[in-house]
Amino acid sequence: MTDQPTPMMAQYLAIREANPGALLFYRMGDFYEMFFEDAVAAAAALDIALTRRGTHLGQPIPMCGVPVHAAESYLLTLIRKGFRVAIAEQMEDPAEARKRGAKSVVARDVVRLVTPGTLTEESLLEARRHNFLAAHATVRDEAALAWVDISTGAFQVMACPLPRLAPELARLAPRELLVAEGARLDDLAQEAGAAMTELPGGAFDSATGARRLCALYGVETLDGFGSFSRAELAAMGAVVDYLDMTQKGQMPLLRPPLREASGGTMQIDAATRRNLELTQALSGGREGSLLAAIDRSVTAGGARLLERRISAPSRDLARIHARQDAVAWLVEDPRLNADLRAALQRVPDMDRALSRLALDRGGPRDLAAMRAGLTQGAQIAAWLSGEVPADLSGAAQALRGHEALVALLDAALVAEPPLLARDGGFVAAGHDADLDQTRRLRDEGRGVIAGMQADYAARAGVPGLKIRHNNVLGYFIETTATHAERMLAPPLSQVFIHRQTTASQIRFTTVELSELETRILNARDRALEIEREIFAGLRAAVLDHAAAIGQAAQALAEIDLAAAFADLATAEGWTRPVVDDSRAFVVEGGRHPVVERALKRQSSAFVANDCALTQGDTPAIWLLTGPNMAGKSTFLRQNALIAVLAQAGAFVPARKAHLGMVSQLFSRVGAADDLARGRSTFMVEMVETAAILNQADDHALVILDEIGRGTSTWDGLSIAWAVMEHLHGVNRCRALFATHYHEMTALSARLAGVENATVAVREWQGEVIFLHEVRKGAADRSYGVQVARLAGLPAGVIERAREVLDALESGEREGATRPAALIDDLPLFRAAPPASPAPKPRVSPLEGRLDAIHPDRLTPREALDLIYELKALT
Ligand code: ADP
Repeated sequence: MTDQPTPMMAQYLAIREANPGALLFYRMGDFYEMFFEDAVAAAAALDIALTRRGTHLGQPIPMCGVPVHAAESYLLTLIRKGFRVAIAEQMEDPAEARKRGAKSVVARDVVRLVTPGTLTEESLLEARRHNFLAAHATVRDEAALAWVDISTGAFQVMACPLPRLAPELARLAPRELLVAEGARLDDLAQEAGAAMTELPGGAFDSATGARRLCALYGVETLDGFGSFSRAELAAMGAVVDYLDMTQKGQMPLLRPPLREASGGTMQIDAATRRNLELTQALSGGREGSLLAAIDRSVTAGGARLLERRISAPSRDLARIHARQDAVAWLVEDPRLNADLRAALQRVPDMDRALSRLALDRGGPRDLAAMRAGLTQGAQIAAWLSGEVPADLSGAAQALRGHEALVALLDAALVAEPPLLARDGGFVAAGHDADLDQTRRLRDEGRGVIAGMQADYAARAGVPGLKIRHNNVLGYFIETTATHAERMLAPPLSQVFIHRQTTASQIRFTTVELSELETRILNARDRALEIEREIFAGLRAAVLDHAAAIGQAAQALAEIDLAAAFADLATAEGWTRPVVDDSRAFVVEGGRHPVVERALKRQSSAFVANDCALTQGDTPAIWLLTGPNMAGKSTFLRQNALIAVLAQAGAFVPARKAHLGMVSQLFSRVGAADDLARGRSTFMVEMVETAAILNQADDHALVILDEIGRGTSTWDGLSIAWAVMEHLHGVNRCRALFATHYHEMTALSARLAGVENATVAVREWQGEVIFLHEVRKGAADRSYGVQVARLAGLPAGVIERAREVLDALESGEREGATRPAALIDDLPLFRAAPPASPAPKPRVSPLEGRLDAIHPDRLTPREALDLIYELKALT
């Protein structure tokens, strides 16, 4: 039986085979152990020691392990590094296994598959962000995307033909994307930063999907939730199937699926999101993004809602107005707003607590979160009664009617319950008579022990005698080893039964102590058992109430966001924009929230600017010229951000604004700004520009920053020119176009609705001063040379650049056709003379003479003469 695996190894291998594609965390006592390749991979990823245990097929088995109590942080590292982890627990007490026979192994099974899209642990999630799991399904010529955040229960679906997938993934930023085998969406998933998981085609069957959904919600038909296409059913079904598989049947609480109508939100593609840094800065983090600059929410739910709103501004006019009404009302009452925010600050993340409870991973603190959230909610609802805007009164309504549950939780729970139900101590005294009595027994036992210690100390004549407790011996009597001889001899040895001797101590028990211990232990176990029952009862009560709690959590998030927008508007002096169905775009005194915030930190002021992309009722295009660093990009982006904020229901950073609904938002930056992405940047720029020209409708807002500069001047100018004409004549949308091709300013004379604007600079003693003021008209020149000087180019290079520029400009005036011809006429480049000649070190006559000597050329005679000569110089 050389290579028969041990029974344990056989069990391991069977579980391993049943869970391919994931690392197996195999529970052994207080550790999760990994073996074979899993161990090698995990040890490297976690930077922990790789050891060996036994052999398999004649080879030592590599092994590593992590302690169960610290497993979460290791899990997080593994998930971040792209692993999936199957967790196999012991399904019975080891004693049970032993009863079956010496060789039997403790039953183990995988209780959960941890993947990036299915996390629920507080420590593994970002509180203020969603953690979406998405699935994309194609059924014949339809396609759909479904997504779920199991940590909050949000479940949505929409029709999503393949070309729309990239922008939707960019909006949702799911952590994991489920696709059917062979779907070939690897690149898309990678671009969106999502882990891709392929499921067998069967998981995407629409009829099965519908059945799964009916079973999940306990309904006969899904009609009550809306009507879904086959592709939508397939995508939702795949999500449910995957959750069933990863959670091993312990289904998370999912809200009924919401169907997102296409056209309900402002369409923003991935490149635009990146350029505008809506939720993530170009550097990758949240800091520096619009989201970070405006987030004043005080609850995690509010922060997640803000991210959703900014990622998908609405196109529903009634919704936008309702949201604005709520913000405006709170702006009018800063005292109430401050009170609301103070109360909201005490609202825990009920969504996630609820989800943990539903998955049976919750603890007493999650119950306490319900109590705290609903209690604050009731207070908030009271403040929002009477004449309040519809959004707020609707939210307040969802916060009422939870009194019974709050009363139950309040009576049952102590003020600050511990994290885990396992150790007890969370049920309040007075809640359960049985528990109170058992606890009294347990505690009295402890009191009796104190008395017993005094009694034994007297009997043994050892004043230092102690009764202690540890997990190995339970309660024991302890004295220093110096008393050993007397304690171990009669008569004392008849009472004190020896248990253990350590280096300095000697330990005993007594019949009496053992009996007492049993009574205490029984009482303790019984108390724990009662607490566990109470926990289960409270959990069930909460879950019975889950839908209403979910609505309350949503309501609190809505109120938090409205209050945060109001706070922002007041603190930063923002105004309520007029939003309507027109194609107006008039902003007076607009500002860029992120740049302004950055400038404020350096105590500089931001210069507000106007923008009017309308002429009468027709959309206009502004052509913006001006030197680098003048503020063109800032101006362009601030107007796009104002549109996003307005349709997200917020006030906007402007003195006044009138915005006709924006259907699609496009923003592109010339390739030179995009080097970091490391592709053929000009190609990318052109592909992205093509997407705009092909897609932008007459309600779009397009922002183009230095398009065409990724190629030679004349190419670039021609492309920019043609793009502009297309936007004007075909797309007929509102657009802002920044360029350094001054030649383009001639377009305004030829195309009605194209206007020139420039960012003003002043020249002073040969230097440029940036005024950051956007004015009508074209820039007279680029000031590139001056800007280069500010950047620290050597003086000689700057001088030469001026010469070349002068020649080119005068040549242009005289009608020269080719810059090359002009350059031929320029005097040749010469290095500028050094600013001042280097001072010569002072040299003595002797050193000077020595320096001039070439020893190899001297005859012996000349050398001798030279020595006389040098001697004379000293
Ligand atoms: P450009 O696109 O013209 O090269 P940017 O828009 O990148 O210039 O602006 C350059 C810098 O000028 C910004 O980083 C910011 O510090 C400052 N700036 C831009 N616009 C303003 C403004 N309106 N008020 C104050 N400072 C501004």
